[in-house]
Amino acid sequence: MVIAIASGKGGTGKTTVAVSLAIAAAEESSEKPLLLDCDVEEPNSGLFLDIDYTSGRDTGVLVPEVNHEKCTYCGRCSEVCVWNAIAVAGEKVLVFRDLCHGCGSCGLVCPEDAISEITHVTGRIEGGTDGSINFARGILNVGQAMPVPVISSLLNEYLPRAGSSTVIIDSSPGTSCPVVEAVSRSDYVVLVTEPTPFGLHDLKAAVDVVVNQLNLPAGVIINRNGIGNNDVEKYCLASNLPILARIPMDRKIAELLSEGIPLLNGFPEYMEVFRNVLTAVREEVIK
Ligand code: SF4
Ligand code: SF4
Repeated sequence: MVIAIASGKGGTGKTTVAVSLAIAAAEESSEKPLLLDCDVEEPNSGLFLDIDYTSGRDTGVLVPEVNHEKCTYCGRCSEVCVWNAIAVAGEKVLVFRDLCHGCGSCGLVCPEDAISEITHVTGRIEGGTDGSINFARGILNVGQAMPVPVISSLLNEYLPRAGSSTVIIDSSPGTSCPVVEAVSRSDYVVLVTEPTPFGLHDLKAAVDVVVNQLNLPAGVIINRNGIGNNDVEKYCLASNLPILARIPMDRKIAELLSEGIPLLNGFPEYMEVFRNVLTAVREEVIK
């Protein structure tokens, strides 16, 4: 079972929920769960676990490399590239690697077979364990603008290794391409929000992508419950979205998390809350 954790905006407690679900899954099964940190621009979930990293490799985008001895400067590669990542100027072919999405179209249309592919390194994926949880994360290199290939590499490498273990995916905040990439292979999406007008606005955006466009089953965890109003509750009820848990606004929780201590280590009474979330999700997935 693959459970993705998402939120329409940053700072709602998505990583707290992802780490808590991984710890709860480790408690209830002898099979180690796998926590995948797909928030590659800020992969923070490993900070809450004492991970011993045992593997890692660079990853990136396959970009074109032009053989100028074969090239006739016909311009077809440039015409086919919707990203404007390759241009022909006189007797020069320019490749703008940071714009290239690695689609391979330019190589396919080249009549002279003058284009091969090389890897443009944009990030890194690495994995390890804290003893009870298997963990892997993607890291987008500083200055790089395309997180999706790093997320894709992470999922391609580690999802097949999970077997029957529970997989928890911590996705990027927001609703753009990195989130779609991170959640689209999951069986269920947990949407984390807070009960404020901003939280409701961003929850609606996340529901639109996850439920309406990707057609994935989803439920909601309300974090910092007690602040704001009950409009999120009303929206969930009207939209038939189950509220899986409510985590109260508590200064002590905020202090604990600021020290890098997982919620369930400081407040073991929440173990049952997250076990119940896992049970509810499992029942929904096997329906
Ligand atoms: S399509 Fe091939 S031959 Fe034509 S300009 Fe591009 S690299 Fe050169
Ligand atoms: S691989 Fe795709 S995105 Fe990159 S330069 Fe070629 S056509 Fe453009």
